[in-house]
Amino acid sequence: MNLSRFPRRRYTPGPTPVEKLEALSKALGGPNIYIKRDDLLGLAGGGNKTRKLEFLMGDAITKGADTVITCGAVQSNHCRLTLAACIKEGLKCQMVLEQRVPGSYSKDASGNNFLFELMGVEATHVVDGGADLLGKMTEIAEELRKQGRKPYIIPGGGSNEVGALGYVACAQELVTQLFEMDLKIDNIVLTSGSTGTHAGMLTGMFGVNGQIPITGIGINRRNDRQIPAVFDLVSRTSAKLGLANPPKLEDVTVFEDYIGDGYSRPTPGMVEAVKTFATTEAILLDPVYTGKTADGLISLVKKGYFKDSENILFLHTGGSPALYHYKADILP
Ligand SMILES: *Cc1c(COP(=O)(O)O)cnc(C)c1O
Repeated sequence: MNLSRFPRRRYTPGPTPVEKLEALSKALGGPNIYIKRDDLLGLAGGGNKTRKLEFLMGDAITKGADTVITCGAVQSNHCRLTLAACIKEGLKCQMVLEQRVPGSYSKDASGNNFLFELMGVEATHVVDGGADLLGKMTEIAEELRKQGRKPYIIPGGGSNEVGALGYVACAQELVTQLFEMDLKIDNIVLTSGSTGTHAGMLTGMFGVNGQIPITGIGINRRNDRQIPAVFDLVSRTSAKLGLANPPKLEDVTVFEDYIGDGYSRPTPGMVEAVKTFATTEAILLDPVYTGKTADGLISLVKKGYFKDSENILFLHTGGSPALYHYKADILP
């Protein structure tokens, strides 16, 4: 795989660390748990969208854009990082914020919301849950074009075949790193949300013939919609790369048991997992994504889904800036 064919900006100086979680592994009494610290990626607050934005901003800049329009939930990490990337590149940024939980937007809210204001977002457009986000972004883009500006639309979560290249690159980075560390990983557990991370890692793992299975934990959609969505992006990304041996539908594994009542709604398992990672390893998770994913990881370990002799890698996709907004759910 030659990823240098695609325009890319760099926002992180080197590979993110892979560390063994000794205390957590011991506390759970199962396999060895390792972590890849994508929460330490570059741009304000870090997290997985930084990798996608390297390729998305590369594409936007190549196309001569002066403004990026994107969308997300009211506490969106993706919107925070897109804004941060735009500031670095000298582009303007506008966001469409979807109130997936009715009444959840407040201009004065903490967490990512505060950072949108602090970093000086050009405009936020708040819409109701289920609204046509692409339609709204297209409308804003039309308006900007009439003013002579050059808008570039990034879809929710940065999850298209350009953004997914960021996680194809991560798979490549990881297998090189594991070779250097002389470490064999048997399974990778990650969040399966807007699919760019899951689809990119799976496609990249096939691209480098890395042969490490990927286990997704759903945080939003049920599997009847999530699995086809992941596979669709796997197919588009594999085609973009011209992969000779792309992943098949049966290579897409997702567990839907940790979603609870829906996107961003707290679950008891998430609260336990956030506390467990904080108290055993001083690692901060977030309530919406990595907390539910860690709940899935811990539950699968306890159910004996992995062998005790195995090495399992948890991909920490970030999100800790949102944690502060959810204090009342974690320590009421
Ligand atoms: C967006 C996000 C995810 C999910 O990644 P997708 O590529 O959308 O599936 C996971 N963790 C955090 C912290 C995120 O912000």
